[in-house]
Amino acid sequence: MPALARDTIFALSSGRPPAAIAVVRMSGPRAGDALKALAGKLPEPRKARLARVRDPHSGEAIDEALALWFPGPNSETGEDIAELQLHGGRAVIAAVLGALGRIEGLRPAEAGEFTRRAFENGRLDLTAVEGLADLIGAETEAQRRQGYTQLKGLLGDRAETWRARLIEALALVEARIDFSDEADVPEDLIGPALTIVRGLRDEIAEALAGATRGERLRDGLVVAIAGPPNAGKSTLLNRIARREVAIVSPFAGTTRDVIEVHLDLDGYPVTLLDTAGIRDSDDPVEQEGVRRARQRASDADLILWVYDAKDEVVRSGATPVSGSVTRWMVQNKIDLVPSLRRNEHRHESKVSDIEFRISASTGLGLADFLAYLTKYVVSYFGTESSLLSRERHRKALDSTKKTLDRALAETSTGREELVAEELRSAVQTLGRLTGRVDVEDILDVIFRDFCIGK
Ligand code: GDP
Repeated sequence: MPALARDTIFALSSGRPPAAIAVVRMSGPRAGDALKALAGKLPEPRKARLARVRDPHSGEAIDEALALWFPGPNSETGEDIAELQLHGGRAVIAAVLGALGRIEGLRPAEAGEFTRRAFENGRLDLTAVEGLADLIGAETEAQRRQGYTQLKGLLGDRAETWRARLIEALALVEARIDFSDEADVPEDLIGPALTIVRGLRDEIAEALAGATRGERLRDGLVVAIAGPPNAGKSTLLNRIARREVAIVSPFAGTTRDVIEVHLDLDGYPVTLLDTAGIRDSDDPVEQEGVRRARQRASDADLILWVYDAKDEVVRSGATPVSGSVTRWMVQNKIDLVPSLRRNEHRHESKVSDIEFRISASTGLGLADFLAYLTKYVVSYFGTESSLLSRERHRKALDSTKKTLDRALAETSTGREELVAEELRSAVQTLGRLTGRVDVEDILDVIFRDFCIGK
């Protein structure tokens, strides 16, 4: 069946100009014609050729470039792809994109559209698409590894294997239902089916066990800096991030919103939040800041409770952040309290009750504190990586596991039709994970994360 005639898309796929080189890509049925119109004859497939790029209308030379030609279907998008590697100047790029836009049948690509075509043409499953987005977005070494693993299809392959085994179990149950009256069908088809389902349920449960860690690796472990106004939270955040991100001010209540900084600690991502000075206020704007700060802090994985070393009252008072979140006490401004300066910078009575003594403005005790935080983060993530990296994966597998549990429960009641029904539903859910079935509704969400030209 001939492929549906579609637009040929084009975009600048490399980063922001000016740069040494700019990569402009075209994908679709007219990609070859477009390349010929700008750069003369087509290069040999997958071989670079030096070409003079001309505006097809005026005939004026725009640049010298490397031209590449990847005929479909064995290309990244599954369609014909042409690529120009130009000099990365703004005017060069504008002239080339302008010339392409004037060719009939060509239009600028939308965000993620190249990848979307790759997905629609079966070149990537949905988990690999997500892996690609994560690889591009990766800020730390551990995130890069996670994105790469997913792009390679580890989760997708696993889900496909699970799905194939489920279909096998389903076939056994259905055979049992269809031929239950016939004498030559073995009585026990349900037994082998159950063995498969039990095994699958356990494997899925095991994959789910690391899910939170996987999601955290993608998003960063959330560490919230909280505490009373003026304790030095913004100063600490700035000090740690080594750049001016929060407003440091001697007046209370200046940091109204939640400011976040992404850190790379030994290859692991940490999102550090500076919550507004948490305190009651009559100012509605400030109240909103306080509400948001409390929310963010209570969702955090770790809270650094910063207080002024001179201010013993706050220290012993109840902290306004409730919940079971791990909390470290950080006594700040020890430079102002001579008796504390000579002390050890860390005190530990029990693991959950760690106390640090630092000076955010002079840096005293900070190295020790950061080393400890790094150790904590490294041990949180552990060495074994999780296959799952998104809430979408976790929800799909969680729902599959629950469905399998229900199927197993039904077998004891002997209602084989219901067992089959549950198994069919689990096959469907697993299919959604890789994008094999009925995923229109989630595609826009996934591709929205992409940049133009990818
Ligand atoms: P926040 O309201 O908790 O974010 O507090 P800020 O970071 O805005 O700090 C409040 C004031 O305390 C500012 O004037 C800071 O310069 C000062 N400050 C912060 N940390 C230290 C410190 O370790 N020692 C001293 N002496 N002053 C500090």
